[in-house]
Amino acid sequence: MFRARILLIFAVLVTIFTPVRYRTVFAAENRTAEKLPADSQVVGALMQISAERIQVTIEKLVRFETRLTLSAQDPDAIKAGHGIGAAREWIKDEFARYSRDCGGCLEVKTDSFTESPAERVPKPTVITNVYALLKGTDPANSGRMVLVTGHYDSRNSDTLDASGAAPGANDDGSGTAVSLECARVLSQLRFPATIIFLAVAGEEQGLNGSQHFAKMAKEQGWDIEAVLNNDIVGGDRNSEQDPSRVRVFSEGVPLAATDAELRPIRNLGGESDSRSRQVARYIAEVGRTYEIGVKPLLVFRLDRYLRGGDHISFNQQGYAAVRLTEYREDYNHQHQNVRTENGIAYGDLARFVNFAYVAKVARLNAATLASLASAPAPPAKVRLQTKELENDSTLTWDASPGSSSYEVLWRETSSPEWEHVQATGNVTRATLPVSKDNVIFAVRAVDHQGHRSLPVVPQPER
Ligand SMILES: [Zn+2]
Repeated sequence: MFRARILLIFAVLVTIFTPVRYRTVFAAENRTAEKLPADSQVVGALMQISAERIQVTIEKLVRFETRLTLSAQDPDAIKAGHGIGAAREWIKDEFARYSRDCGGCLEVKTDSFTESPAERVPKPTVITNVYALLKGTDPANSGRMVLVTGHYDSRNSDTLDASGAAPGANDDGSGTAVSLECARVLSQLRFPATIIFLAVAGEEQGLNGSQHFAKMAKEQGWDIEAVLNNDIVGGDRNSEQDPSRVRVFSEGVPLAATDAELRPIRNLGGESDSRSRQVARYIAEVGRTYEIGVKPLLVFRLDRYLRGGDHISFNQQGYAAVRLTEYREDYNHQHQNVRTENGIAYGDLARFVNFAYVAKVARLNAATLASLASAPAPPAKVRLQTKELENDSTLTWDASPGSSSYEVLWRETSSPEWEHVQATGNVTRATLPVSKDNVIFAVRAVDHQGHRSLPVVPQPER
């Protein structure tokens, strides 16, 4: 009895005098999936996103008759408002107009190059990506970037038909309109990190524009945390459409993973924890926080069968990138000559687009971009200690600039989304009474206003 009391006093003394970082042991089983706090500034911005504005943008893009990458871009065609050159100039002017409305806050730029002949490029062709940068206001965070993109080129039944009508209202006037509308609305706000609003060309000829842009970003060392590619987000008005959902495709095993990176993925069950997938989960969380009327449906694959998109160009360069696409595509309304056959209307026309749906998808994008650009950097060097066989789990990480605390997330290995969260306070080490053998962990940084970074899955450390 007396010995027990001595031991108890000893234990209490050890607990009191052990440095904090060594005794951050938490009770487990804190449920997550509750809604995170909404940022009132973001709520205000989302209300500015307008289905009418988006309709005007898409109808304008359709009026260039064709935006095939191989279509006209000479001065006469630009003047006449016909072909991809005219579309490019109009997008530039739109970005410039938004910039005038925010005191010159946007840097409007082009990334132009000549593509060599290839299967879908019969002769050397100038391809131009147009983008606007909203520079981050915090020197410690402005090097971090988040990017939204859509492709402004279009096609009809024949990818080489340079003059026939190719309205491309949904594919991908809708995604281009999302980039533009996000730029118009978010340029009214300021964020610590940088946001890039991009419209690429060459998608239908073989992702040429996005490949050039992603390579340039990689070569110049751009720290792009997330790429949101919107391609076919028009919510085609077919009877089986579900306008309450938008699909979010994300790669599992990263396309750019090296052999050395593949080994732990195979050994430790990391196939559903690419950084692209963390972006997809982040979008799902944003969707719960802001309730914008369209629910992200996470699809755990790179893209649809037989199809690809511009996010793949970024994945290939090692960037986290996802694709947003309407729930059910109507193949009569994409990559088709405009015509009526046996009473069926073919062609990618504006009248098949649900502009209110595009606006909801734009809100989901804007809320995600704003949340990431407001958040501190994801913690670096996140490690899971695996020196010993033990049932507790100890995680360590480097402090992240701008953060005031951290959270450890975890889920069962068979669960698609994070299930539990434990706030750790402002520390860089935490031990949880949860076996690392049974779950997947991640750590995220949190700032004073409650903005959360992307979570980072730890590397094992012995
Ligand atoms: Zn497309």
